[in-house]
Amino acid sequence: MSLNVLFTARYERWETHAPILRAEFEKRGLDVNLSTDLSPEIVDYIIYAPNSPVQDFTPYTRTKAVMNIWAGVETVVGNTTLTQPLTRMIEHGLSQGMREWVAGHVLRHHLSTDLDVLGQDGNWTPHIPPLADQRPVTVLGLGELGSTCARTLAALGFPVTGWSRTQKKVKGIICLSGENGLQTALTDAQIIVLLLPLTPGTENILNAQTLALPSKGAVVINPGRGPLIDDDALLAALGSGQIGHATLDVFRTEPLPPEHPYWAHPNVTVTPHVAAETRAETSAEVIAENIRRGEAGEPFLYLVDRSQGY
Ligand code: NAP
Repeated sequence: MSLNVLFTARYERWETHAPILRAEFEKRGLDVNLSTDLSPEIVDYIIYAPNSPVQDFTPYTRTKAVMNIWAGVETVVGNTTLTQPLTRMIEHGLSQGMREWVAGHVLRHHLSTDLDVLGQDGNWTPHIPPLADQRPVTVLGLGELGSTCARTLAALGFPVTGWSRTQKKVKGIICLSGENGLQTALTDAQIIVLLLPLTPGTENILNAQTLALPSKGAVVINPGRGPLIDDDALLAALGSGQIGHATLDVFRTEPLPPEHPYWAHPNVTVTPHVAAETRAETSAEVIAENIRRGEAGEPFLYLVDRSQGY
């Protein structure tokens, strides 16, 4: 008998993802009826995105797992109607995309690329940046994305400190955890990269107190989630020069409203939530593998820890 799999992620993704998902199901010998429209009581698995129309999971009585196609789960993890296992997305395309985006923006600031790229004014003014080993970088969050970015930056020669909830060991990275660890990780940092999930424990983690710790003129790069930063505190720190620049990919309200002060701020770069995108090919492998596991009675990959919220 066919498995009924409901695709509820944004409709514009359907045309790209559906044929690739079907091919992955076939590769694994899974007989799947994949659709955007199924009666809740017959659905075996849900491919989900937080902006999906499905917000009440109560009628999905036989659903064995809800598979989020995004890495962040903050808008679904607290849904009290969701009693089924929830998985999040970890896949090569997301990780590779994030490494590239983070490395690119760190190097932009490290090399002061703007001085040359935006300064084609006929003046021959050499700017020689320090080498990477003189530029301490701190990555908050050492999970799938944080640790891969930390390793990439360390491979480029930056001294990298990482911070996480539980103590980690990542080769070539100074790993810290806990409240004191945060203070140490931020103190004297010149570039800070935020790759934490949004939970009650991480909201406003960059605030007036913590933004005072890095080196004067430090750069904040946030591809994590908007509410990790207290926006008023960041604007004040930018105003005083304590923070030299902020490159922000994520915001409390998305799309960022046109009147938001970040848009016009000379020391803020806004990117429209593009740091890392779930790729159809590589995410389909993960989804198909999880359905195979579910049917074989094996544990799902990348289960969300509901008690921690990520
Ligand atoms: P992950 O594997 O779950 O890693 C999260 C990391 O944050 C872990 O190291 C975790 O610590 C740490 N952490 C969680 N709560 C903490 C706390 N209270 N204090 C200190 N550390 C804490 O997540 P991921 O896959 O790396 O993704 C990170 C985030 O990136 C996602 O949640 C999402 O918001 C964002 N993201 C953005 C984009 C984009 O396009 N902008 C794309 C994908 C993802 P432990 O290691 O101790 O658990």
